[in-house]
Amino acid sequence: MAQGTISIPDVRSAFTGRVIAPGDPEYDRARSVHDGSVDRRPAVIIRPADAAEVARVVALARETRLELAVRSGGHSGAGHSVTEGGIVLDLSDMRALDIDVEGRTAWAETGLTAGEYTNTVGAHGLVTGFGDTGSVGIGGLTLGGGIGFLVRKHGMTIDNLLAADVVTADGELLRADEDNHPDLFWAIRGGGGNFGVATRFRFRLRELPSIVGLSRMSSFQSFLAACAGSCGFSCWAACFCVVSFFLYVPVVIVWLWDGLLWPRDRS
Ligand SMILES: Cc1cc2nc3c(=O)[nH]c(=O)nc-3n(C[C@H](O)[C@H](O)[C@H](O)COP(=O)(O)OP(=O)(O)OC[C@H]3O[C@@H](n4cnc5c(N)ncnc54)[C@H](O)[C@@H]3O)c2cc1C
Repeated sequence: MAQGTISIPDVRSAFTGRVIAPGDPEYDRARSVHDGSVDRRPAVIIRPADAAEVARVVALARETRLELAVRSGGHSGAGHSVTEGGIVLDLSDMRALDIDVEGRTAWAETGLTAGEYTNTVGAHGLVTGFGDTGSVGIGGLTLGGGIGFLVRKHGMTIDNLLAADVVTADGELLRADEDNHPDLFWAIRGGGGNFGVATRFRFRLRELPSIVGLSRMSSFQSFLAACAGSCGFSCWAACFCVVSFFLYVPVVIVWLWDGLLWPRDRS
């Protein structure tokens, strides 16, 4: 394929995973990210079916010299998981989760969200500590470090990362852990997404027999996230609107009551 251009029919025939291009009905939804103020139009969004296809997307970006954005849960505050005119490698169709209950470990593909992972391992009374929001992707969260409610008891998410499968910029699929490619393993634990595309992680599981509290906060956050999603702006903007609403409504009522409905003689 020529540099700087991409043939969508060729890409569609080269991948078994989903290929979404401008004009497709799901294009606008697929290019939107958590921060609604980020509005970029990639040339194509590819949702690989497996690690081999991830490597082929990386090769395609190298061949065409188009910018590559990697997306797990799409919660990057800077909008790093979508690109203008480039290729989005969207991992959201790679969501396999293999749990070894006896061994207290799990292999998780990076298209999973923290909430999906937590709900599934939670059915076994087990947990890996992520953050406070279920819709965040385990890809970006883990590579960034991961701080959540369990950090004091069990450490950060990366303290519970045992291994990762990573596709490097030259298209190689590597297993990184304490013994294999330890430098890469060191780098991905907090270094962000620039060391390769992580296709799956192996986490340590901890026992968590019960959860006390926090449900109200979580539902309030979910409510805000739902408002934000439907209005197309960020969770913080939704938070601001909700708080403003409850602050200003009483003020307006008093003002109407005092000033408009029963005007005083101010002379
Ligand atoms: C509402 C909200 C709540 C949050 N709460 C917490 C919290 O409690 N604790 C906490 O630690 N963080 C929290 N964060 C921050 C969050 O962890 C980061 O923004 C994280 O990068 C988002 O990951 P993602 O996969 O959803 O985002 P994405 O936008 O998909 O990815 C973020 C970055 O990681 C890269 N990336 C993603 N997946 C991969 C991959 N598989 N391989 C290589 N690179 C990849 C992307 O290219 C991008 O640069 C929160 C963010 C939001 C918006």
